Amino acid sequence: MLHSEFMDVGFYIMFFPIVFLYGICIGSFLNVVIYRLPQNESLTKRASHCPKCGAKIHWYDNIPLVSWIILLRGKCRSCGQPISKRYPIVEALNGIVYVVTFAVLDFNLKSVLYCFFFSVLICLGFMDWDTMEMDLRLLAAIVILAIPLLVIGVLPEETRYGFPEFLDFSDVTIWEHLIGAVCVSVPFFLIGEISGAIIRKRTGDNELRRGIEIGDTLIMGAGGLMIGWKAAIIAAFTGILLAAIGGLINKFRSGESKFAFGPFLAAGLFIGALCGDAIFDWYVATLTYNPYE
Ligand SMILES: [Zn+2]
Repeated sequence: MLHSEFMDVGFYIMFFPIVFLYGICIGSFLNVVIYRLPQNESLTKRASHCPKCGAKIHWYDNIPLVSWIILLRGKCRSCGQPISKRYPIVEALNGIVYVVTFAVLDFNLKSVLYCFFFSVLICLGFMDWDTMEMDLRLLAAIVILAIPLLVIGVLPEETRYGFPEFLDFSDVTIWEHLIGAVCVSVPFFLIGEISGAIIRKRTGDNELRRGIEIGDTLIMGAGGLMIGWKAAIIAAFTGILLAAIGGLINKFRSGESKFAFGPFLAAGLFIGALCGDAIFDWYVATLTYNPYE
């Protein structure tokens, strides 16, 4: 929890609503990324517009959460067509994720970087859901976000002078980060290759088809680098479990068996990042527990 000098209730009452508001504003931008990146539209050049009629959206209709719920009630002011529930959901999700991150990790550089990491995961998850593809630029962004975590872990303590609490989170070593980049992605890549070969042989279809797509491999590589190997393993198992549940529901509802793995891996990485180390240590302690000691 937050450092003792901030431990008064007043601070919490101020801090978390500000984090939430900040989160939904960033979430509003994430909607733009999710919608425009797959179409290679500029993120900044064109003002927000209705995807149905193209009408420009005024600033007062573009306030995160508030506009969709109160001002517009889910409809475009210009053409009256419904605006997707996706927009307020992404905004609220990003706000909640930021609050949970700061509540779990305290206020330091790691929690700030993790918030950006989770925002990128939200974009990748929704884009994979829509297009079955992951954007390489967003995957590269995760690697860039991981670099400060790797570097600060190996810096001597004196360099944190002036920001002792803000820079004190080096619980994961640089090696644990680097092993994290390969411990899930390499098995995923091999499973993808082998399953692809089996599918091609069985169906005679020479188009590249794999059980695990390259994007799924890369998100676990970049995410593993960010959170370290213990958390990455928990993230992979959580993602697979969520995908199995999601896949069953999907098959039951629509009869389709092909669906995007990415959103479930993104959710797994979120859970792994925040409590993977604790789950991993608890599991190892349970396995190695000796009642006679
Ligand atoms: Zn419209």
